[in-house]
Amino acid sequence: MSNIFPNPTMTVNTIFVVDDNPVNLKVLFTLLKESGFKVLVATDGEDALEKLKHITPDLILLDISMPKLDGFEVCTRFQENPNTQDIPVIFLTALNDLDNKLKGLALGAVDFISKPFQKQEVLSRICLHLKLSQLQKTLKHRNQRLQSEVAARETAEAELVELNQKLEQRVKKRTQALSQAIQKLESQTQKLHYQANHDLLTTLPNRAYFMEFLQEMLETKAETWAILWLDLDDFKKVNDSFGHIVGDQLLQKVAQRLQSSLGDRAIIARLGGDEFAILLPYNPAVDSLDDLAQNLLARLKEPFTIQHYILTVNASIGIISSIASYQKSACLLKDADCALHHTKAQNKGQYAILTPCLKAQFAERQQLETDLYWGIEREEFCLHYQPIFSLDTQQLIGFEALIRWQHPDKGLIPPNKFIPLAEETGMVQKIDLWAIQTACQQMRAWKNLFQLNSNLSVSVNYSSVKIQFLEELQNINWSEILQDLSPQNLKIEITERGYWEAGQAGTAVLEFLANCGIELCIDDFGTGFSSLSRLHEFPAQFIKIDRSFVQRLAPNSKGLAIAKTILNLTHDLNMKAIAEGIETQEQLEILQGLNCDCGQGYFLSKPLDVATVTQVLSTYFPANQKLNYA
Ligand code: C2E
Ligand code: MG
Ligand code: MG
Repeated sequence: MSNIFPNPTMTVNTIFVVDDNPVNLKVLFTLLKESGFKVLVATDGEDALEKLKHITPDLILLDISMPKLDGFEVCTRFQENPNTQDIPVIFLTALNDLDNKLKGLALGAVDFISKPFQKQEVLSRICLHLKLSQLQKTLKHRNQRLQSEVAARETAEAELVELNQKLEQRVKKRTQALSQAIQKLESQTQKLHYQANHDLLTTLPNRAYFMEFLQEMLETKAETWAILWLDLDDFKKVNDSFGHIVGDQLLQKVAQRLQSSLGDRAIIARLGGDEFAILLPYNPAVDSLDDLAQNLLARLKEPFTIQHYILTVNASIGIISSIASYQKSACLLKDADCALHHTKAQNKGQYAILTPCLKAQFAERQQLETDLYWGIEREEFCLHYQPIFSLDTQQLIGFEALIRWQHPDKGLIPPNKFIPLAEETGMVQKIDLWAIQTACQQMRAWKNLFQLNSNLSVSVNYSSVKIQFLEELQNINWSEILQDLSPQNLKIEITERGYWEAGQAGTAVLEFLANCGIELCIDDFGTGFSSLSRLHEFPAQFIKIDRSFVQRLAPNSKGLAIAKTILNLTHDLNMKAIAEGIETQEQLEILQGLNCDCGQGYFLSKPLDVATVTQVLSTYFPANQKLNYA
């Protein structure tokens, strides 16, 4: 018989037939086999259970009434076993056995086939239940898949939730860290901003802040404001004498005193070093800048107690009475500097209010400074030589080299017009080194030309307002400068003030020069701040009596008494004296009477240019005559 119920899955289904009746078994076996099924059989319940340990049929045909284990018992066991519980069971039972049918269904059977078998019915029920079983399996499988998908989704969702929470925590932590960092940054920025705008020593606003503030004021055309530019006089000395800690404390106290004197209405800034700037409201109709400046200077003069020292300082103030006429803070500051500079140059501890005249003077000075710079670069200088004579033998013993500036527009400029500026700006060092070199060259030329007496010397003035200038003398290549000359042919003149201010370090330099054999002169003696007790410490061979004393020389005058004292002192210290500025016969005779060693002055000879000196020397020396003033 052909397979009239083709299997929808196209696989061969296995039918397990359990019946103790061999006839039934054979009939069913044959029918099912012919219908294309794979058929397995068992002849009783135990046989069935044993075989089901090894096979998994697609459907079981189970006879109810069997010896030992009946179909119900076998079915119950199937249901208990997870491997077999899903296999559809169709009971084989007698046609009218309703009770058994109900019991079988209650035990989990899917259907009944009544005996005797109707072949078509058997096959159609089998096929139906195979299909149902297949569908059930498919459904179960789908269900399982769905369940596992749902479970996976739930797991994924749970993971997602956890991840989300972790992320949120992370974000929270990061946000916290970030806000802390921002806070820190803000406080650092504030600190930096404060530091950028304040002077940390005095806590006053600094130059940057002041300049910015000033520029804003100028842009808003603040009409009635004045500027005071204040500089402490000789503050460096406080640092040098008492140390930087005391210096710093003094600056702090000065800042406090400025604040307490001027109150909140003034903006006070420390510009650096000992420089302060004050911007304050000023109404010309009501306020007096003179009173204000005088009060401020008086307040600053009051002593400061720092550690166990009691210190006093002076200040100088440059004032601009109205800032309204300025557009740029830089121009204003330049003018304030001009006023300050003016007052410092006049007298320390004073103030000056800027006037157009002051401004013009300052501009002139600035111009001179620029010209001087170029003058040095272009060597626009020359030396004039003033003869110095022995007052005893009346013979020429040497010259003082005196510098002149051959200005391209202004002609010959005397040293007092530019040396102070050169000293202030530090340019003097180059000028003086040039003068030493040029004077030595000139002496060499005259010595070679006229076979001059080797004792003839040239005295060169050397500025010692700063110790650094003096120290430069140690760096000079003296053997090159003095070639063909002996060291005695050169004298260095240093003012009395320079001597005292140079202190110990200066003495060391002067001793170095003395060891080189170069003689030293104390210039302008009597005008400086001599401490007579220290005079003997200096390795100088000559003292120059200042012109101011020589001019006051008259019989029985105070000038005479002073000159006598100086000369006695000089000779007691084994030094020689040179009197400067001898203008009259009387002065000359008095000095000779006092045993003054040497002299120079217009009465004997004015300073002469090189050509004139050469001419004078040539007049005397061919005949080998000694040059004297008689
Ligand atoms: P000093 O060293 O005291 O020089 C003497 C000054 O007195 C010279 O002025 C000289 O011309 C002047 N003099 C001489 N005899 C008489 C006189 O009988 N009557 C009057 N009224 N004056 C007399 P000078 O040349 O104008 O120099 C002025 C000052 O400039 C010098 O004073 C010196 O301190 C300084 N100086 C000159 N040359 C140099 C230099 O090369 N370097 C430095 N650093 N300073 C110099
Ligand atoms: Mg001199
Ligand atoms: Mg002099």
